[in-house]
Amino acid sequence: MGVSVHSQPHNRVFNFSAGPCTLPVPVLEEAQRDLLNWNGCGASVMELSHRGKDFESIHAATQANLRTLLNLPDNYKILFLQGGASLQFTMIPMNFRREGTPADYVVTGTWGSKAVEAAKLDGPTNVLYSAKASNFDHTPKLSEMIASEGSSYVHFTSNETIQGVDYMADPNTPGDWICDMSSNILSRRFDPSKYALIYAGAQKNMGPAGVTLAIVREDLFERIPTGLPPMLDYKIHLDNDSMYNTPPCWSIYMCGLVYKWILGLGGLEAMEKLTEAKAAVLYDVIDGSGFYKGHAVKENRSRMNVTFTLPSDELTASFISGAKAEGMIELKGHRSVGGCRASIYNAFPMEGCQALAEYMREFERTNG
Ligand code: PMP
Repeated sequence: MGVSVHSQPHNRVFNFSAGPCTLPVPVLEEAQRDLLNWNGCGASVMELSHRGKDFESIHAATQANLRTLLNLPDNYKILFLQGGASLQFTMIPMNFRREGTPADYVVTGTWGSKAVEAAKLDGPTNVLYSAKASNFDHTPKLSEMIASEGSSYVHFTSNETIQGVDYMADPNTPGDWICDMSSNILSRRFDPSKYALIYAGAQKNMGPAGVTLAIVREDLFERIPTGLPPMLDYKIHLDNDSMYNTPPCWSIYMCGLVYKWILGLGGLEAMEKLTEAKAAVLYDVIDGSGFYKGHAVKENRSRMNVTFTLPSDELTASFISGAKAEGMIELKGHRSVGGCRASIYNAFPMEGCQALAEYMREFERTNG
């Protein structure tokens, strides 16, 4: 093999996991260096009080770096929450559906479907569009996503992690757009002002599991009904600067290191270029092959989760075990799509995409 896994730092494999997943090596090295004694304070970040000045400075720097990365307007608040993106599925309708009005959902995969199920438990829910009939292989056109009369918000999933389907652009029709960006946040430039709320679990593009980012436009807080359970009330989290209860300090710290790392690379513009280049390496193989077949339609295929099938289950199993022997792990696709999924989030190295592309070509040559 031209690109060898054995030349990777710390003998690391190429880990195509959909999440938790590969983190940037420089980030892991910095965390390792400071694990026992952060910044000369004599304790690990894991051991610091969330009310102390050391963690306060970490928290503030993390927020500031994210603001810089996103060029975030002042009227957006940053919250670090818990319960995963899954709890956001429940909290969003509870907090932001105006009494007596429906909430709109656009469903392009498994995670959007779960968001709808949670919203239905809370109140009137419209499915504006569902791509289920074609096993979620595409998105609707953004220009065709029109909020229904009087709806509170429109929810969509910018990148469906399981099916590997992505919109690639921001919404462009009127409405309060709420977006689950769990699996592609920070992988491209986007305009935060097009959104009412953005949320994302950390464990794909930002850091370890345990923290969920929510970026909320200020005026949304005025909608929150009184009497919500405190842990499910965004306003309580805002008023307590994400510290109503003990926050996941370590996960927030790690996200902060990742934000700093992206800034150091040149911010979202640089990340976008890298993302496009990495995905192209794999899609070039798929497009040039009669053996591999992409799951998503070309215009909507994800640059984060490359989903593809092989001609048979036997070949798929052999492909995955052969890849593992070459130091490329976690390539099995989700059972609802079958085949393979290569998740190549922000921290996943270009060398890993090249190694997989080479392996795919060789596998096709010997098995095709
Ligand atoms: N949304 C998307 C797009 C996801 O990929 C995932 C997790 N894979 C979730 C939501 C659920 O996230 P969590 O497990 O953090 O609740």
